Amino acid sequence: MFNKEEFRRNAVEFVNWMADYLSDVEKYPVRSKTGYGDIRGQFPSEPPSERESIDKIFNDFKNIIIPGITHWQSPKYFAYFPANSSPPSILAEMLTATLGVQGMKWITSPAATELEELVTDWLRQMIGLSAEFTGVIQDTASVSTLCAILAARERATKFQSNKKGLRHKVLRVYCSKEAHSSIEKAVRIAGLGSDNLVKIDTDSVGRLIPEKLESCILSDENKGYRPICIIAALGTTGVCAIDPIDEVGKIAHRYKTWFHIDAAFAGSALLLPEFRDSVTGLQRADSFVLNPHKWMFTNFDCSVFYVKDTKHIQKTFRLVPGYLQTQNDSEVNDYSNWGIQLGRRFRALKLWFVIRNYGVEGIKKRMREHIGLATYFEEQIRKHPEFEIVVPRILSVVCFRVKGSGNLLKIDQDRINSKLLEHINNTGQIFISHTIFNGCYTLRFVCAQTYTEKHHVDEALEVILRCAEVAIN
Ligand code: PLP
Repeated sequence: MFNKEEFRRNAVEFVNWMADYLSDVEKYPVRSKTGYGDIRGQFPSEPPSERESIDKIFNDFKNIIIPGITHWQSPKYFAYFPANSSPPSILAEMLTATLGVQGMKWITSPAATELEELVTDWLRQMIGLSAEFTGVIQDTASVSTLCAILAARERATKFQSNKKGLRHKVLRVYCSKEAHSSIEKAVRIAGLGSDNLVKIDTDSVGRLIPEKLESCILSDENKGYRPICIIAALGTTGVCAIDPIDEVGKIAHRYKTWFHIDAAFAGSALLLPEFRDSVTGLQRADSFVLNPHKWMFTNFDCSVFYVKDTKHIQKTFRLVPGYLQTQNDSEVNDYSNWGIQLGRRFRALKLWFVIRNYGVEGIKKRMREHIGLATYFEEQIRKHPEFEIVVPRILSVVCFRVKGSGNLLKIDQDRINSKLLEHINNTGQIFISHTIFNGCYTLRFVCAQTYTEKHHVDEALEVILRCAEVAIN
């Protein structure tokens, strides 16, 4: 039975804890300091047979779970790409959890579908995608890209792969060597085989080289292979390289392949005209993905997948058994026809709250501040004789490393940088991550956390320089 007063008391206590947590989050070690098994070992291995009070469970949450948390919402979180949240997003998630809606079909919650239509169209306008594109919210960019590859496969095989299985000649997919691993996973899952993902060489700053792409396609065609999809990165994970979208798009059109753009992180920056103007050719895409959960202050998970030909997407995924058929199926939009899973969370609500509560200008302002802070960080690193910038900063991503003295072997330089990363993260004061770029161990500083301010970047610089003295000597 629902006990309203008990629920209210617990909820108020939780909200108080949440407010304190967010205001104190920078006091926690950013990367959890627990060892593997420490958390699990504190709980009984068997589930409780009798009910336990929320107070007791909440105490265990505070005392046992929290020490095992890496604080992604800390303003001193500079690792990977962020998974941000913000007050409007959290509040919306509370409402989403309360409603507990499963929006698989329009009729299972008309507002969930219609808000998703609305908010994905708002975002489309915000990033300057043409009205030819229509959006759907998926959980992750990995799944959005998988949907793109499946749609490409079906277009190339006239829906026969869905029907008869893969019986066609070898189907090939292309992306750069710096593209995200989710593409290879998607190619495997789509039954194409990872040998048929062709990873194209990149230039010195990590961008796909279009001439190499075209020569690989020609050589594949000569071998009797069938190119079906090209994926360009608008912001690679390693160094945030922006592939030459327009040129790659032209190649995709020339060889009649599907053209997908993975803009998981950097896609949000298309809100900024100063960045958007530097990117041409977006309209050539068949599909495009960006994750507001990375750099638009919206809780994980929220990945917006845009497609031009929605009929094609629905033909790829639509499968409606008798028990899900309704009288108005042909008149309404059922988003479960747009992707893999049937059940769908009401993700549009948090994005709607964020866009309304920040306002488009508010989101742009915070992003510009992030880019300004990253620029400042890059300048400070450039000035330091022990460090070098690996590739010029793109947006809010700075890639750098310890230079070492002139005759240092690469293997030793890599070792020093990897040691430095561990020293830095063991302090718990900040959290940064690394990539391997052009074969070299490279440190990454991503300045895109919702609450990061200049003094956090100054603290990061202080920690990095202090740890470098130990790592180098
Ligand atoms: N694409 C790029 C460029 C990424 O950087 C990432 C993750 O960082 C992904 C795809 C995968 O994102 P997701 O975790 O949403 O699947």
